[in-house]
Amino acid sequence: MKFSELFCPTLREVPAEAETISHQLLLRGGYIRKATAGVYSYLPLANRVLKKIMNIVREEMDRAGGQEILMPIIQPRELWEQSGRWDLYGDEMFRLTDRHNRGFSLGPTHEEIITALVDGDIHSYRDLPLLLYQIQNKYRDEIRPRFGLMRGREFIMKDLYSFDMDDEGMDISYRKMYDAYSRIFSRLGLRFRAVEADSGAIGGNESHEFVVLAENGESEVVYCQACEYAANVEKAACVAANGDNNEAVLEIKKVHTPGQRTIKDLVSFLNLPEDRQVKTLMYMADGKLVAVLVRGDRELNEIKFKNILECNDLFMADEYTVEQICGAGFGSLGPVGLDVPIYADLEVAVLRNFTCGANQDDYHFCNVNPGRDFVPEAYVDIRNAVAGDICPQCGGVLESVRGIEVGHIFKLGTKYSKAMDANFLAANGQALPFVMGCYGIGVSRTMASAVEQNYDENGIIWPLPIAPYQVIIVPVNAKKEEQMQVATEIYHRFLECGVEVLLDDRDERAGVKFKDADLIGIPLRITVGPKSLQENQVEVKKRWEKDIELIDLDKIEDVIIKFLAAK
Ligand code: ATP
Ligand code: MG
Repeated sequence: MKFSELFCPTLREVPAEAETISHQLLLRGGYIRKATAGVYSYLPLANRVLKKIMNIVREEMDRAGGQEILMPIIQPRELWEQSGRWDLYGDEMFRLTDRHNRGFSLGPTHEEIITALVDGDIHSYRDLPLLLYQIQNKYRDEIRPRFGLMRGREFIMKDLYSFDMDDEGMDISYRKMYDAYSRIFSRLGLRFRAVEADSGAIGGNESHEFVVLAENGESEVVYCQACEYAANVEKAACVAANGDNNEAVLEIKKVHTPGQRTIKDLVSFLNLPEDRQVKTLMYMADGKLVAVLVRGDRELNEIKFKNILECNDLFMADEYTVEQICGAGFGSLGPVGLDVPIYADLEVAVLRNFTCGANQDDYHFCNVNPGRDFVPEAYVDIRNAVAGDICPQCGGVLESVRGIEVGHIFKLGTKYSKAMDANFLAANGQALPFVMGCYGIGVSRTMASAVEQNYDENGIIWPLPIAPYQVIIVPVNAKKEEQMQVATEIYHRFLECGVEVLLDDRDERAGVKFKDADLIGIPLRITVGPKSLQENQVEVKKRWEKDIELIDLDKIEDVIIKFLAAK
C-alpha cells in the first residue's frame, strides 16, 4: 500500500475527549473515529489489525473443535423471557419494537439464541459435544461507555458456546477453551494472565478471566509468586492474619468527635491508624437494610457481599433512610447497639480494641471488641484482596498487577438449558438438559489493550503478529529520483514475497514521515536516504529499539524475511 493513497488521517494534537493512551493513540493514528458515544468506525489500519486478531482467534477456535456460525443480532423478546433475562438484563440491553409492537433486543450476548437453536436440531447424546462460535458485533448500553474501544456500546466479540451431555464433558470443553485462549493471547504477542474470576450474574460455577497486563487497566489481579494462584481482586479469597489476639481487652469508651466523619478524619483527630478502625457501611439488599463491617483500610467487595446474601438487588442505602433507622448519619455509624443484621469481615473478628461510630452524630466508640460489644450474623470474607495479603492456596504473599479483561470463560451448567427446556436424549433414553459453557473474547477491546500495553511517547508499538503492516519504507526525500526508485524497488520485492509493506511516497518532510511511522506503530522501518545509498545501503530501525542498522541493499530482502520468520 502506498501511504499517499491510504485513508489514515493522523492527528498532531491529542484529542481532548480521550483520557487513555489507547483511545488517544488510536484516534491520533487514524485508526478509529467516533460516530456517537461508545460507537466507532474502524478505518483501514484498524480493520487490518482486527482481521489479524480474528484470524488467530478463528484458527484456535477451529483447532479446539469449534465450528463457526453467524447468529442474528436482532433477538426476539420471547427467548429472553424464557430464560428470565428480559427483565434481569436491565438497562444495559438495547431494546426495540417492530411495527407490530413486538419486542426485540440487539444481542448483548447469545446464550438464549444458541440454546434455542441447538435445542431445535440436536436430539441425541451422539451429537454431543458441540462447540459453536461466531465473531460479531455485540450491543450493550453501558452506563459509562468510555476509553474508546475499551468499553463500547457496539463492540466486536467472539463468543463460543459448548454443549455437552454431562459435567465431565463440560469440564473437558472448558479445559479446551482455557488452553485455546492461552494460545490465542500468546500468539497475539501480548503479556497476559489467566485468573480465577467471579461467575457473577451469568451463573455457573467456574470462571476464568484472561487479563492483558497494563498499568492503566480497569481490573486488578492478585497473584502468588510462590504458587500458581492468580485471581481477580473481586474473586480472590482473603484470609485474615492473626490480628491482635494477644492484646488485653479494654473498657469501651465513648468519645466526642465533632465533624469527624471519615476514617482519614479520625486518623488525624484521634491519632489512630486506619487499621485500628472499623468502617460500617449500609446497604439495601432486596429492599432490607443490612450493615457491613470492614477494617478502616479495606474496601468492601460488593460482589462477595451479594453472593453471601444471595440477593438480586444490592445497593448502598441512602443517608436519609439510614438516619431514620440507625439514629445517625454516615460518618457516625457502628455495630454497637445497631438493630439491623450485621455482616463483619473475617479481619474484624480478630481485631481488638478498635474504634467505630457510636450511632450518634459526632460520637465514636473506642476499645470496641467483637463478641463482647456486638455479635454479627456472620464473619465472612467480604473485602477486596490487596498486595501483601496471604495467598489462600499456599500461605505465600500476594502481589498485585493491573490489567484489562479481554476474555472470559464460564461453566454455565444447565442454567439456560433448564430454564429454556432444552434437552437431548441420553443413551438410556432419558431426556436430560444440555450442560453448557460460554466463552467470550472482546476482539475490539483486545486491539485497544494491545496499544495500552505497547506504546511509547511517540506512539503505538504493535506486537508483530497484529501490526497492520509489518514494514514501512520511507524515502527521505520523495522528490529525489534515486531514493524513490530504490524505495519502490524494495517495495515491489517485498510485495512479491508476501511481506506486508507500506511505502511512504508522500512529498512530506522526512521528520513528518518518521513521526507518522512511529505514531501508527509499524514494527520495522526502512529508510532510504542519500548517505547510506552512497554505500548501497539502507537503514533499518525496529520500532521498539533506538539504534539503526545499516543493511546492504542486496541483502535487505533476506534480512527482513528472516527476521519476520523468526518472530
Ligand atoms: P466487563 O466486566 O468489562 O463489563 P463483561 O463481564 O460484561 O465485561 P462478558 O459478558 O464476559 O464481559 O464479555 C466477554 C468479553 O467481551 C469481555 O471479556 C470483554 O473483553 C468484552 N467486552 C465486554 N463488554 C465490552 C464493552 N462494553 N466494550 C468492549 N468489549 C467488551
Ligand atoms: Mg459488562
